[in-house]
Amino acid sequence: MDPLTLRVALAAVAVSLLLLSYAGVHRRTRSRYSMWWCLSLVATAAATMLYLFNGTDAQLIANPLANAVGTVSAACTWGAARALGGRTLGVWPLVVPAAGVFLASIADRPATNIWAGGWATLLAMVLLFAATGRDLWKLRGEHRDMGESPLGTRAITMLAMTVSGLTVFYAFRFAMYMAFGPTHETFQTFVGSVPTTLALIVALVIVTFTMTDLSAVESTHQLRMRATRDSLTGLLNRGEFKARATARLASSGARHAIVFADLDHFKAINDTHGHAAGDAALATFASACQQTLTGDEIVGRMGGEEFALLLPTSEPEEARARVERVSEAYARLAKAASIPSTTVSYGIAIVAETDDLAQALRRADAAMYRAKRAGRDQAVVDGTH
Ligand code: GH3
Ligand code: MG
Ligand code: MG
Repeated sequence: MDPLTLRVALAAVAVSLLLLSYAGVHRRTRSRYSMWWCLSLVATAAATMLYLFNGTDAQLIANPLANAVGTVSAACTWGAARALGGRTLGVWPLVVPAAGVFLASIADRPATNIWAGGWATLLAMVLLFAATGRDLWKLRGEHRDMGESPLGTRAITMLAMTVSGLTVFYAFRFAMYMAFGPTHETFQTFVGSVPTTLALIVALVIVTFTMTDLSAVESTHQLRMRATRDSLTGLLNRGEFKARATARLASSGARHAIVFADLDHFKAINDTHGHAAGDAALATFASACQQTLTGDEIVGRMGGEEFALLLPTSEPEEARARVERVSEAYARLAKAASIPSTTVSYGIAIVAETDDLAQALRRADAAMYRAKRAGRDQAVVDGTH
């Protein structure tokens, strides 16, 4: 295979993937990792085109520039990997390796030597790909621990494996370069321009497809969050609370307690301190629920200043003790953040797995109204069951 044709093919592949990534993913998601990946493709295409000047008078400057831009491309891959994990990349990985590579190339007779600064370029690539791979494996571990969707974890594994493959390939190139020099037949055969260009084409295609996959996983995740969560408090919304509570009652075969919570005289907070303070009070109550509960509970915002909890206990006094802890945490958190708070009235209804959730919610709601009538700031257990 002739290296020139392959280089043109690589540039064409990079430009096509760039158009697909930009139009297909970046314009839709505006995600930071797709931006980094588009930049990496731009740099790959630019570096590849600059190498086409080898053998002309422009080689003197085009060759060192191609090495530097290729290094920037690897740094952008690192940026993409960090952005996937919500991390940022400083400016130095983009500038320092590229500047070092450029200077090393300039100092190495770039007018006649197409491998000017080759060792520095290969070393920079190894280090940047290794850093990218490290971040991806770390991210994969985090994803798995958090139980994120298996599709997302699989896509990240694919990325990590591809980048690690490239790291090994470039480490091998660097070792062969130092051992034999770039013009030796062994170097040319195993890690010269032809195998490298082929490896890059394969890696670019895999990474672009995986990125597209990941962006689909991410948008599905965001849509699901929007459809099931209350945007102010992050708790489950009414529909999702009911769906999960119904499923839990049907599957666990144990008795539970349904709690209906309503903040007392909440309207007064809005009237006195403004709507934003009211919002902060609601978010604080939600945090209090999340901090106090141990994980087996289901908590939702039923609307306005009304919340529902499904507790895995059938003991009224145990349920009462738990909601008291929620109220204490609410008062403590609000005080710490100087957010106006209110007391809370609770209605508790014990439900068996055979009970209808809607009816249990009505019983809890009725108990909550009894708590209001009895003077608020208390929990009343429904005794009608
Ligand atoms: P009670 O002790 O009888 O429950 O009195 P209350 O004032 O808490 O009850 P009421 O139902 O009269 O008022 C509820 C208020 O909650 C009215 C409404 O403006 C406010 N509210 C509902 N949703 C939100 C919200 O998302 N943000 C804010 N800030 N206020 C809300
Ligand atoms: Mg209310
Ligand atoms: Mg209220």
